[in-house]
Amino acid sequence: MKSSAYPKLFEPVSIGSLQVRNRLVMPALGTMFGTEYGGITQRYIDFLVARAQGGVGLIITGNSCVDWPRGKVGGNPLRLDDEKFISGFNELAESVKSYGARIAVQLQFSGRLTNLLATEGIQPVAPSETPLSPGGEQPKALTPDEIKSIIEKFARAAFLAKQAGIDAVELHGAHGYLIGQFLSPFTNKRNDAYGGSREGRVRFGIELVRAIRAVVGTKYPIIYRMSADERIEGGLQLNESQWFASRLEEAGVDAFHVTASIYETRAWMFPGMGMEKGCNVPLAEGIKKAVSVPVIAVGKIPGPDMAEEILQKSRADMVAMGRPLIADPELPNKAKKGRVDEIRPCIYCNECIGRLYRNWRVRCTVNPYVGEEGKPKAPPLTKKKRILVIGGGPAGLEAAIVTATRGHGVTLCERNATLGGLLYVASRPSFKADIRPLIDYLLRRISKAGVTVKTNTCVTPEWLKTNRFDTIVVASGGIPASPNFVNRSGKEILSVEKVLMDQPPIGERVGVIGAGRVGCEVAEFLADQGKKVILVEMLEEVAPDLHVLGKERFIRQFEKLGVQIWTGVKVSEVIPQGLLLVDKTSKEHLIKVDSVVFAGGYTADEKAVQMARGSVREVYAIGDCREPHSILDAIAEGNRIGWLL
Ligand code: SF4
Repeated sequence: MKSSAYPKLFEPVSIGSLQVRNRLVMPALGTMFGTEYGGITQRYIDFLVARAQGGVGLIITGNSCVDWPRGKVGGNPLRLDDEKFISGFNELAESVKSYGARIAVQLQFSGRLTNLLATEGIQPVAPSETPLSPGGEQPKALTPDEIKSIIEKFARAAFLAKQAGIDAVELHGAHGYLIGQFLSPFTNKRNDAYGGSREGRVRFGIELVRAIRAVVGTKYPIIYRMSADERIEGGLQLNESQWFASRLEEAGVDAFHVTASIYETRAWMFPGMGMEKGCNVPLAEGIKKAVSVPVIAVGKIPGPDMAEEILQKSRADMVAMGRPLIADPELPNKAKKGRVDEIRPCIYCNECIGRLYRNWRVRCTVNPYVGEEGKPKAPPLTKKKRILVIGGGPAGLEAAIVTATRGHGVTLCERNATLGGLLYVASRPSFKADIRPLIDYLLRRISKAGVTVKTNTCVTPEWLKTNRFDTIVVASGGIPASPNFVNRSGKEILSVEKVLMDQPPIGERVGVIGAGRVGCEVAEFLADQGKKVILVEMLEEVAPDLHVLGKERFIRQFEKLGVQIWTGVKVSEVIPQGLLLVDKTSKEHLIKVDSVVFAGGYTADEKAVQMARGSVREVYAIGDCREPHSILDAIAEGNRIGWLL
């Protein structure tokens, strides 16, 4: 059956002998939903089943270690190195396949890309003794016999996958894991038969594919994931990868899944806000020119429009969307039915992945149901309430949408002329434009849910006397923190909101006080406009409230834009000449600036809550007015209260 809007996307495709119902792929993603020892949990099954129900064609599991713990990566990877894991994979395969999707398991061995904690004290092994930089463990170079034993482990895992009823295997040859380490001149410094020339570096991959083919038979699909450009000096580049891909196809690979980068250049692994949409697609296109089997493109492909265009232009044969399918598991069905406006957009904030680096389970900023897919929903309403939501930021919008969708009568009052609250402010810099589709989506939902929206409406005790409600949800936002330094400059200290929304006149040299997430954003915004920015932080690090991927991004940007950073210093005064700073040794420094922006964050605001308590008995405070935190927390709180009422 062809969908009129996306005919190519919903056209069936074959990977070797495997028929897939459409060309949409859910790529391997870490979730931390496995057990400590690599077992599959019901939570993980529910997570993937929701995506199968949502209509995706092929699901690839999170990486599954073939040699535990020596080849294991950090976090909670899965494991397929023993018969006892077959039953878990079988349960997963049968559950996913019962909704028409196909499932592949990603087989992985970390090589140098791990640490002693993950390997339980075993020294990592790799093609050469090239440690992960900076500060990684020193790996041991594999002997030819050890190489053969690892190949056998991969083949065994592929055999077990087939036994479990999994439809295909994907060899994780990308992102600098062991298979990719052999291909790459950056990590493979061997001068024996497994290194040196291109022929030597591809040998491990070829022997691996042949060994797997020998145990799974000629028809079982083998997908090979590769970083066609490692985006690092001395690493793999497309022209060499094309040659490798053609050799691997001859050895028996049925499809290529083309991504970019290694750990040292991981921004390209998860292209986030500010990066170009589809930035890795040219690599898939390049590999497609070198092989005759299907090629899967991946990397910031936000929705069905771009996916269809990639396929129509024959740049790839299938399209993988990881984060968009976290954000909305129903994306394929909605696209197929022409309900594109209902797709909850991924904003590429990378909170989902950033959390994994802290060993926290995956959650999503825009989708509060991630990891909760198997939980029963609240029973239908027995009593319809009149609910007032005060505040139209992310927490208030989500609370209003959920309560109204469940059948309550909901009014939302916002004191400003527009809805969106801090989301609106946050989306102002061009590098944060990925937030704008989320605002549009929430506005469409609020209008569909039948919420009565009153903008430019300040809720007062008098107003509440003439407008009666059973329940009030206060989501009125926090208040900007006050500076804890003296301003003797005679000039206004600008707030972040003012800088982003009003764009007032600002001098050439700008001091930004506070290098949390918001301070970093405003610093980049100003530096982008050509200002000389000096970012000042009391703590020792920049963006301590942000995950590692976001932090790395800011550090790269600040280097590029010449932002000067002072950490571990306190601002004692702002004087006409600039900022007076005091360091840990009590030494004073004068930093000359023309303008000052204070990014000291927000504090809770109890005022609206107290006012509401004077009018009705049932009052809830959510979002920043209760405790300032992230968009993820705000939406999650709004959603939770929506289901509670
Ligand atoms: Fe997208 Fe952010 Fe959700 Fe991840 S957390 S899926 S990047 S919106």
